[in-house]
Amino acid sequence: MNNASNGANRFYTVNYDLNNCDQEPIHIIRVVQSYACLLGVDVQSFSIIHVSDNSQQILGLPHEEVLSQNLADLLHPEIMEQIRSGLQENDFLSINPIIIKSFGGHILDTTYHLIAHLQDQTMILEFEQRDPLVSSSRFLQRSDRAVQKIQSARDVNNLFHETASEIKVLTGYDRVMIYQFDEEYNGIVIAEAKEDHLSPYYQLRYPASDIPRQARALFLRNQVRIIVDAQSEPAQIIPAVHPETGTPLDQTDSVARGVSPIHIEYLNNMGVRASMSVAIVKENKLWGLIACHHYQPKLVDYRVRNMIKFLSRIISGHLALQEAHDFREQGLQTNIVRSHLLEQMSRNWSVLEGLMQNKFTLLDLNQASGAALLLDGRLHTIGECPSEEKIMELIDWLENNTDSSVFETNELSAHWPAGLEIKDVASGLLSLQIAHTPPEYILWFRPEIIQTVNWGGNPEKAVTFSGEQMRLSPRKSFDIWKEQVQNTAKPWDRNDINSAIALRNDIKEIIIEKYQEIRKLNQNLLEAYKDLESFSYSVSHDLRMPLRTIEGFSQILEEDYKDKLDDYGQQVIQTISSSIGKMNGFINDLLALSKISLNDLIINKLNPASQIEQVWNSFPEAERQRVQFQLKDPMPPVYAEVTSLRQLLSNLLSNAIKYSRHQEIPMIEVGADSDGKSTVIYVRDNGIGMDPKHHQRIFDVFSRLVSDKDYEGTGVGLAIVKKVVDKHRGEVWVESEKGGGSTFYCRFPIHELEVL
Ligand code: ADP
Repeated sequence: MNNASNGANRFYTVNYDLNNCDQEPIHIIRVVQSYACLLGVDVQSFSIIHVSDNSQQILGLPHEEVLSQNLADLLHPEIMEQIRSGLQENDFLSINPIIIKSFGGHILDTTYHLIAHLQDQTMILEFEQRDPLVSSSRFLQRSDRAVQKIQSARDVNNLFHETASEIKVLTGYDRVMIYQFDEEYNGIVIAEAKEDHLSPYYQLRYPASDIPRQARALFLRNQVRIIVDAQSEPAQIIPAVHPETGTPLDQTDSVARGVSPIHIEYLNNMGVRASMSVAIVKENKLWGLIACHHYQPKLVDYRVRNMIKFLSRIISGHLALQEAHDFREQGLQTNIVRSHLLEQMSRNWSVLEGLMQNKFTLLDLNQASGAALLLDGRLHTIGECPSEEKIMELIDWLENNTDSSVFETNELSAHWPAGLEIKDVASGLLSLQIAHTPPEYILWFRPEIIQTVNWGGNPEKAVTFSGEQMRLSPRKSFDIWKEQVQNTAKPWDRNDINSAIALRNDIKEIIIEKYQEIRKLNQNLLEAYKDLESFSYSVSHDLRMPLRTIEGFSQILEEDYKDKLDDYGQQVIQTISSSIGKMNGFINDLLALSKISLNDLIINKLNPASQIEQVWNSFPEAERQRVQFQLKDPMPPVYAEVTSLRQLLSNLLSNAIKYSRHQEIPMIEVGADSDGKSTVIYVRDNGIGMDPKHHQRIFDVFSRLVSDKDYEGTGVGLAIVKKVVDKHRGEVWVESEKGGGSTFYCRFPIHELEVL
């Protein structure tokens, strides 16, 4: 496919490979359409450097005679005056077209328009016929009516149809179409006015390659392009390149620029002889074209072309207005839905409830048919969604393959092949990442919509290679070619995406508010807890006095009045004193529990073995002697407050003694281990043990697994142990089986000596 030395190369000064229409250098084509005569004039000297070889037919002078002449010698001084002022002001737009009736001193057969423009150091002058009818009052009336009709169009559709038919009347083309581009620059005919005998092109699509990239760029720049006769032999530009610089004449802005051979073939295959295309521009992008076809040669006067350019601007203005209006309307609608969602979320500070479990849901925001929310590690769905497993797979893919936090497609399977399996419900996906780690997402789904699209000829054969030299040629047939478009959903628009992004901000606001509310609640709770602690401290403290009085009096009763009481009376006194004992135990334990959190802890580096020994020795000797007690040696240091640690050890050891006392030989082992970050002290016994299901709850206050009858106690001891450990920012746990003994572990972090 290396060379394309077909007939085409006489059109270009550089050797160009016609295998790719996107590369065709259409602006430096060295021919000009035969209906016009072109002059290239040096701006400094006004000497004529280029001329098209049809100057004899149009201007009455052979090109040899025109070349090297001075422009001032050929044009009337008044005309030269206009040209000079155009040059000076650098504004040819306001002087074009200049009416030309004579050239080189002789009167011309017809009146011409001279259209001038500047290209680098060369002024390009193009002469084309002037249509006398255009200045008639009838034509002016007609144009005025056309503008009025177009401006009063009811809606955009009506606007397009009106424009097409008015342009047809004004220009007399056989067919006038409004052609709209999609994202990839494939076009669709959205309005058409045509001669009755012609078959309709309305709603047909044309592939992007029909109007290659550089042709689109020229449309955007020049806005109007006219081809007067696709079958006439073009005029050559003499010389093709500048005699001094050797550069070809740049015809970027020429009105009669020669037509690319590929495009001529395209028009011939379509049976079109003359055409005019006018750009419709929106936001500096080529939105569409007004495309006119004629089946005979046709020149439309320069002024009419300008008029059509003006009509295309009216369309652009309408489009922008309409879009702004639609956008505002939709925005208003979605804002209402968003504010409902926000209100729902803030009711209980619940994102899930607010978005999925109330009157308004995620689905109301953008007409999705299903939505999924991945929040706090759990997936929730609403409407028509893929399976949970598939959604999680999709989120995984999004995590690894998309950079932006918003991803949208109306053809998921084109990005993620596994999406084919879920195309029925999720050909369309709009995803919104709410948080990174762990990932939190909202996904909206839209189902597949199968459509039949009519193309003007098979788009896959839009351009083909033919012949031995692999020449590029446009398709031969423009008959309707039906394509079934699958795996796609209704696309998401700008409003859908914007509202999703705004929703993310709403959610973040709710999460922050929720966090602040929790902090406030936490603070309140802490204060209440403190109040409760000081209350229980004062209650237990205050109860001690009257209890002591009761104890004193019951002792007096027992000692001094025992003989005077019958058996029942003596039994009552017994019960009173044992209840007082129990009550004392309770009060002491509660007091110990509330004291722990009232004070700050002053941490010391302690030797656990000596603390354990001291606590162990404080138990009555009779109890100790029954037990086989073992202290594991050596032990790493522990960082703790000494009184709290002793309280902890005392509770664990007394429990170990108590709950192993029915063993033939009660055995207790105490030790400590360290991993460099913390020291774990353990207390092991071979007592009654407990069911693992109770391992958590035994640390709550007053929680007991045994009856008072079998084992005395208050249910406060382990709560004290837990509180001590918590205050040290450590942890406590138990390993135990029913009947298999218990081991309690207390972890104390190793830290710098400090006050906690
Ligand atoms: P109590 O005063 O009842 O011993 P604790 O708070 O110290 O209160 O213990 C709570 C409960 O945990 C006890 O009632 C007992 O059922 C169980 N328990 C505590 N330590 C042991 C242990 N070493 N062996 C078996 N059960 C224990």
